[in-house]
Amino acid sequence: MKVSGMASRAKATERHIRKSNGSGDAPRLNLLDCTRQDFEGLFPDKPYRGSQIFTWVFGKGVGDISQMTNLPKDLRGELAHKAEIAYPEVMGRQVSEDGTEKLAYSLKDGCIIESVLIPEKDHWSVCVSSQVGCPMGCSFCLTATMGFTRDLTSGEIVAQVLHPIHTYPDRQFRNVVFMGMGEPLLNYDNVISAANIITDPEGPQISKRRVTISTCGIVPALKNLARDTEAGLAVSLNAPDDETRSSIMPVNRKYGMTELISALKEYELPSRRRITVEYVLIKGINDSPAHARRLIRVLHGLRAKVNLIPFNPWPGCTLEAPDPASVSAFEARLKDSPYTVMLRKEKGRDILAACGQLAGRML
Ligand code: SAH
Repeated sequence: MKVSGMASRAKATERHIRKSNGSGDAPRLNLLDCTRQDFEGLFPDKPYRGSQIFTWVFGKGVGDISQMTNLPKDLRGELAHKAEIAYPEVMGRQVSEDGTEKLAYSLKDGCIIESVLIPEKDHWSVCVSSQVGCPMGCSFCLTATMGFTRDLTSGEIVAQVLHPIHTYPDRQFRNVVFMGMGEPLLNYDNVISAANIITDPEGPQISKRRVTISTCGIVPALKNLARDTEAGLAVSLNAPDDETRSSIMPVNRKYGMTELISALKEYELPSRRRITVEYVLIKGINDSPAHARRLIRVLHGLRAKVNLIPFNPWPGCTLEAPDPASVSAFEARLKDSPYTVMLRKEKGRDILAACGQLAGRML
């Protein structure tokens, strides 16, 4: 998918540039949406200029072409004629009592997306959106109630990482998780481009081991994923059997558990890495000791660690958070298995910034 996607994108960029040059009112190319190859194509006879521009845009995070001081002035002028650096606009910011921040961005077509900045002990994580809304329809997720509007461009994804890095220089942003709005593997090419830019040594330099792409299980897209990116993989399993899973995640009717688990077994993980299995615990649905036992059985043979997430309620949803006792019992059973288990400490619940609570409703 990567190869054809990249090639068609390069062509689109070329077309875009030509169009912009022809008529003054055509939209200019947004450099945030460009890949490394696109940059090299900007001045084909001087490919090193592409590399310099890449560093200005993604490494230094400049917002204006005039700031690219190692480019000759006429080149800057030529570039500014056909291109720009256009960031989404921050429309709102909410801070939770635990320090978690939710940012709402307005995109150029007026769509709103949200990102979450999460403080950890000695660093910060950024949770980015990959689509406006989401088409997957999971019953426990607030984003699903928005429906799906469109895919984000790679620039709209990368901007969610660059903006906080350059707005808060005293914070160490180390982790990026694709766990905001949307299903990343349905926006495959742009998510791969964004993940590769985020980890580029001349870009924001987030370590490859600290970028995680989370999916509800789009099986065909898992085929090439390990080849296209070294980012980590998280899968929202949320149930140990087809009946339970299909009742809360419609995607399971298309790609059932057998198919999903075998695709995960075939996934070529880099050495010493494991797949994160996410499991949202919902009261009376998937949180019994029997579910825990079945989960252990279903994961057999998989290099995985389990991340338990107690369901975060949201207004209008009839599902309930699990009792603390069932969470502990579930966790204890898994601790007794070969899998490492982590209970995700929910952050930002008070501002609807926790998992599955993003819906652009802060304004
Ligand atoms: N579409 C992707 C990424 C977005 S959801 C995916 O499905 O993985 C990110 C994580 O939040 C998923 O593991 C999902 O199962 C979880 N989640 C969604 N709604 C939730 C809720 N209300 N409470 C707790 N976790 C939730």
